[in-house]
Amino acid sequence: MENLILDGRVVAGNVKDRLKERVATLVNKGVTPCLATILVGDDPSSETYVRMKGNACEKIGIKSMRIHLPKETTTEELLEKINELNADETVHGILLQHPVPSHIDERKAFEAIDIHKDVDGVTSLGYGQTAFGFGKYPSCTPAAIMEILDYYNIPVEGKHAVVIGRSPILGKPVSALLLNKNATVTTCHSRTTNLADVVKLGDIVVAAVGKPKFIQGNWIKKGAVVLDAGYNKGNIGDVDYDACLENASAITPVPGGVGPVTISMLLKHTVDAAEEMINK
Ligand code: NAP
Repeated sequence: MENLILDGRVVAGNVKDRLKERVATLVNKGVTPCLATILVGDDPSSETYVRMKGNACEKIGIKSMRIHLPKETTTEELLEKINELNADETVHGILLQHPVPSHIDERKAFEAIDIHKDVDGVTSLGYGQTAFGFGKYPSCTPAAIMEILDYYNIPVEGKHAVVIGRSPILGKPVSALLLNKNATVTTCHSRTTNLADVVKLGDIVVAAVGKPKFIQGNWIKKGAVVLDAGYNKGNIGDVDYDACLENASAITPVPGGVGPVTISMLLKHTVDAAEEMINK
């Protein structure tokens, strides 16, 4: 069967090209869009993710304000830093890198981010607005999945979308976004029974499980579109790519699928937030 590889690098390149002009317009008006990233502790993967996001900002002219706090930082100290950034008019977006050290109340810290600067879509208010259909900044991976579908003109309306995973940053918001685009959505999780049979119903399958090669090729209906949000150690997705490729009409690879588009969505939301701020 002819199948389409959904190339995240191409989609991300397209998003970034469109942003460059908007960044230039903002700079001409005296405003440099700025994303503040907060990293707490020294987890090497988190350091890499934050560095990648900061570098991606700088490449298109967004200022990257990088805040690195020691692992002993308390919840109160982190809240203080977030409030300082909330009040800083030169900062348009705030990203708190997940996970923070376990002694910190991460949810409380996420909730402290000003909704207007919640470009990573981590607050419960942002999620609620996304679910209601008027959220400005959905979490970046769900936004990336929708951007890929849109770029490749893959129809969503009336399709059965099966999402595996229900985390607040991925499974739940992507289910809401698909529903808002008139898909019929089934959201699966660790207590779903007969998972393979449920996945087989999907015209669109979104894998957001956090388990390498978890989605099997024979779970995929012939002609389904498969989007793999998974990113496991060793650059391995949540989907058994080679096996799923047999049945899928279109599929995202890992790496080079959802990941690069996720970063481009973060940049887009930061530029959106900067424009919003000057138009207030
Ligand atoms: P998470 O918070 O650990 O959530 C995993 C979800 O999978 C949970 O809802 C869990 O169900 C479900 N699950 C676990 N085992 C299952 C099973 N056997 N059958 C069915 N469902 C099962 O993970 P996450 O943060 O959403 O991330 C998911 C994946 O996406 C990871 O690989 C992560 O690295 C990746 N990710 C990628 C990006 C990107 O930019 N590409 C961004 C974020 C995350 P319960 O709710 O019942 O526990």
